[in-house]
Amino acid sequence: MRSIWLLATLAVLASARTLKEPAKLSYEGYEVYQLNIRNKIHLQLINKLSELSNEYNIWKDYEEYSKQVHVMVSPKAKSHFQLLLKLFGISNELMIANVQRLIDAEQPVTRDSGDGFGWKRYYELEEIEAWLDSILAAYPSVTEGFTIGKSFEGRTIRGIKISHGTNKPGIFIESNIHAREWITSATATWFINELLSSKQTAVRSLADNYDWYIVPVFNVDGFEYSHRKDRMWRKTRQPHPTNNCIGVDGNRNFDSHFMENGGASDNPCSETFAGAAPWSEPETKALSDYVTSIKDKFNVYLSFHSYGQWLLTPYGHTMVLPPNYDHLQDIGAAFAGAIKSLPYATEYVHGSTATVLYVASGSSVDWAYNELDKKVGFTIEYRDKGRFGFLLPPAQILPNCEELMAGMIALIDKTKQLGYL
Ligand SMILES: [Zn+2]
Repeated sequence: MRSIWLLATLAVLASARTLKEPAKLSYEGYEVYQLNIRNKIHLQLINKLSELSNEYNIWKDYEEYSKQVHVMVSPKAKSHFQLLLKLFGISNELMIANVQRLIDAEQPVTRDSGDGFGWKRYYELEEIEAWLDSILAAYPSVTEGFTIGKSFEGRTIRGIKISHGTNKPGIFIESNIHAREWITSATATWFINELLSSKQTAVRSLADNYDWYIVPVFNVDGFEYSHRKDRMWRKTRQPHPTNNCIGVDGNRNFDSHFMENGGASDNPCSETFAGAAPWSEPETKALSDYVTSIKDKFNVYLSFHSYGQWLLTPYGHTMVLPPNYDHLQDIGAAFAGAIKSLPYATEYVHGSTATVLYVASGSSVDWAYNELDKKVGFTIEYRDKGRFGFLLPPAQILPNCEELMAGMIALIDKTKQLGYL
């Protein structure tokens, strides 16, 4: 009798829980289009659509290099969208026919069969943190956990320092500032594991000669939300005081040329909303405080993103090129060349953010470059070019990781050769 009562209570609790928590958003029938942008009106139209309606979501902003935008369209808006494309003469290509199908393909049918954390699927925050704990426990003499601070929802933002000695030149890596870019934390965790366990000479030399500061999941609230509620979530999770739209683009929220030259949006519903002021987000404020506190310990700042296959240098806020651009281009060429020479022959394009991609102000890499005088800083945009976009299949995690390692070895080599390390 007692056990029946207990079961009934549990059932009520379970249903209350499902009632309280809205189900995961479905992207059944959502499509992603590549649009060829010919003029300013085209661009304004697409930006306005995405700001005014939830039925549209920009996946990839307008790129100078390709003159293209990628936009996701809901089934409800489909006919309206087709009409607008025709009316404005915007040529286009369907990249993804059903977003939900790719989301489903991303989820494993069965959990790992006891072989533990690996790089054959994507993990949730809790699993990544448990793995981080196991790594810290397994390599106590060369690793050290550190805390960036707390997120808006109270989660701890964690990092790992890997150091095979004292006072070696440092490299700082921040990853997954944009929540939906899951390949970034998958690659960061793999890279941590390689630094600790690889026997390859070139990898050992990276591990032995430098201090590494790596934050695998920076936007912890957004990342969790992208797993639990909305796979396509990008921003932070702090509500806006006067608007229903939630969150800020963390990578537009840094206090360096904030909101300059249209490099971000002042509309809280935009995916590139910069926030009401620099450091409006507790996460970016905490990161800037932490990075400033160790500014004498590192020389290179890297930010992991997806997608598009880019290696981007400052500046983001202006087309003007930074003073050491020739050097940054040399490093970029080394990175891209190393990746191209792998069997996958994947192509990365390198150049300054504003000239090859778009004007983007208030980014972390620009902030480190301008305000902390870290003259080697890159934003890395991983695979792919849009066939899968943010929903890169798990089978591509390892190839992407291999590419990063080849690129990283070349990047660090060239950076050292040029005297920055
Ligand atoms: Zn990003």
